[in-house]
Order: sequence, then C-alpha cells, then structure tokens
Amino acid sequence: MIPIFSRLFQTSSLPFPNPSKRCLQIANRPCAITVLHLRWLSKYSHVSTPSTGADAAFILHQTAWALRRKNTSVSQKSQRKKTISRPILSSTIASVPIVKTAMKLCCMRVVTILCGTGKNCVYRGIIMIADALKQQVCNTIDSRRDEIIHIGESIMDAPELGFKEQRTADRVKETLEDLDLSYEEGLALTGVKAVLRGAKPGPTIALMGELDALQVPGHPRADPKTQAAHACGHNAQIAGLMGAAMGLVQPEITEHLAGNIVFFAVPAEEYVEINYRIGLIKSGQTTFLTGKQELVQLGQFDDIDMAIMIHTTGPDVSAGSMGLSPSSNGFVAKNIRFLGKASHAGGSPEKGVNALYAAQLSLSAINAQRETFRDEDCVRVHPIITKGGDLVNIIPAEVTMETYVRAKTA
Ligand SMILES: [Zn+2]
Repeated sequence: MIPIFSRLFQTSSLPFPNPSKRCLQIANRPCAITVLHLRWLSKYSHVSTPSTGADAAFILHQTAWALRRKNTSVSQKSQRKKTISRPILSSTIASVPIVKTAMKLCCMRVVTILCGTGKNCVYRGIIMIADALKQQVCNTIDSRRDEIIHIGESIMDAPELGFKEQRTADRVKETLEDLDLSYEEGLALTGVKAVLRGAKPGPTIALMGELDALQVPGHPRADPKTQAAHACGHNAQIAGLMGAAMGLVQPEITEHLAGNIVFFAVPAEEYVEINYRIGLIKSGQTTFLTGKQELVQLGQFDDIDMAIMIHTTGPDVSAGSMGLSPSSNGFVAKNIRFLGKASHAGGSPEKGVNALYAAQLSLSAINAQRETFRDEDCVRVHPIITKGGDLVNIIPAEVTMETYVRAKTA
C-alpha cells in the first residue's frame, strides 16, 4: 500500500492553489477580512483503481494543515497583530473527491454467456440450444445493433440516481412492450421484471441490468440539475439487457428453451445519497438502502435459480475482452458526525471548539493506517466530508463525514 499512499500525496503537479503561497496571502493584513474561495481540482477515478486518480480532499487536507500551522486563535486583547484563517468546506466542492470514471458503452451479447458453455453445461435445457439457434440469437442482436446502442445512449443522456430511476425504467418498459413481454414494475420503487417462459421445464435464469447513475459534478454528460452521470456504465448494462431480450424473444428460440429467462432491471446499485435513503426507510417506502437487497427481501429473487450481470470496465482493458471476477470486495458504510462548539470566529474564537479540525485529525489518523494495509486484502478506505461548517465566520460546530471501508471478502 505504500506506493498507493505516496501516490495519493503526489500533489505538486496538480492544478490547485499552492498553500504555501496563495492561501496565506492574508497573513499580513491584521484586522481586515479577506474571503478566499478556493477550488481543488484533481482527477476522478474509481476507488478500486485509486492509482489512476488524484484525491482533491487530500490536497485540501494538506492546505488546511498549512493554514492551521499559521493560524493563531487569540483573545480580544492580543488580537491586533494576529491573523485568523478559518477554512470551511462546502459540501458541493468537497463531497466527491474520488468518483468513478467514465466508461465506454459496451453492448455485450449476454446470450453468449448463457449458451456458450457447450457440452459441459450443467443445464440440459441450455445444451439443447444448438449452435444454429445461438447464431440466430446473435444475428438478431447484431441486426438491431443501432437500436440497442441508441437505448444505451438515450439512458446516458438522462441519468438518474438510485431509487429515482423513473425515466430509465420507462425506457425499459417501452422496449419490453415492443417485444410483447409482460412485466412487473415499481419493484423496490423502480425495478422492472419480465419473464420469458421456455416451452420446457427447467431453471429460471435472470439477466440483470442496473438502472442507476452516479453523481459526478463536471462530467460532460451529467444532468445539469442533479449532477447525475452514467460514469459507471450502467446505461450499457440496460442496453445489453434489452439487446439480450431482443435476441431471445423469438418463437424459434423459446420452443427449444428448457426453463425461463428473467429480464430484470434493478434499481439503486450505487450506495450513495445515504441520508435520502434513510428517509425512504423512515417513511416506509423501502427497508434496505440499496436495490438488490430490497428486492431480495421482497421475494423478487425467490423464483430465480441463477442471476447473471455484466459490467463495463476501465479503459485500460483491451477492447473486446471479457473478464470474470472470482471474488469481490465487501464494504461497510459509516456516517460520522463531529460535534464542536460554535463561536464567532472573529470576535471570540477562543470560546469555540472547532469540529472541522477534529475531522481533519481523523483523516490523518485514517491515512496513518494505510501503510499497514496488505495489498492482498484489497482494503479501500475513502472518506469524504459532507459538511464542513455552516458559515465562514462561525467556528464549525458540526462536521459530517461519510466513508466506506472496503476489503476482500473471505
Ligand atoms: Zn457500476
């Protein structure tokens, strides 16, 4: 982890204000107030590949420490020669230091996963799908290539956050209606599920696609109001899911199909907007904070024997390749609240207790742990500050932080 740790702090080449020069320009102006609005720009990266990103929060953290070393909290009597610099963080600037990268649209032929296991396949019904039928499915998908890509692009242009994916669900429903597939809707608020029944008995296999986007301010195709963007490529999942449905919904296919195929568009994969989702639970609309857990408790997987999903990956993987992941990180999410004591930052700073500095110390403590993480445990800890203070002239009395702690599952 040491290389990762050092990379996180390689900040010198990044376009942000140099704390030793710009941020401390006010140091020689006693009794005057200069308000600086600073913006730290770095580079988004998925948290599982942190080496390709640069964390704006860590840069900010360094700057805050530089300010703090120069800062003196003073009483009224000795105030004349002193300067008090008090940074606070605004949540819109500091809340998303590392976000997932934009990924290429990839329309995968999911059906090849279903049918491509040949003689070794455990499901006899799938074995019975001959090469000619597989080819027919693939040809149908290829012939509707532009239509499938258009679905993915139209969803890319209308990104929605988890449990709010109404328009995306509508897009799925329209396509299912065009295919004469009946469906259930509103599952875990926005999920859509259709079943293609084969002519013979057999297992039920679900093909899943995730409906939700991330929140990525500055993404070129972000929704200007919500900042939602399909930077995790879930639009490609839905396009692939619809493409698979187009290929499989044919009488020649279903008459040979032993079992059923479920086309399942599922909500809220991303574990974000936690406070909003806690509100959904409190109002009785959901029980869990993410979509698949909610669908499990609703019994929507009870009729499914196996589920398959695809996910796009980063641009460093060669085009056209496919990977299967044998394991995955699990995680816990933490909401942390630091409580201090408000006081006027210019008039009586000595009466306040600065919650932001407590949060800074906690970040340092977390960062000090990083060199102890073993590479093979795949530990990822990536806190953000969601509230850094209330007003710039008030000693921050409440600071909130969210973090995941990810690590390899046993
Ligand atoms: Zn994703």
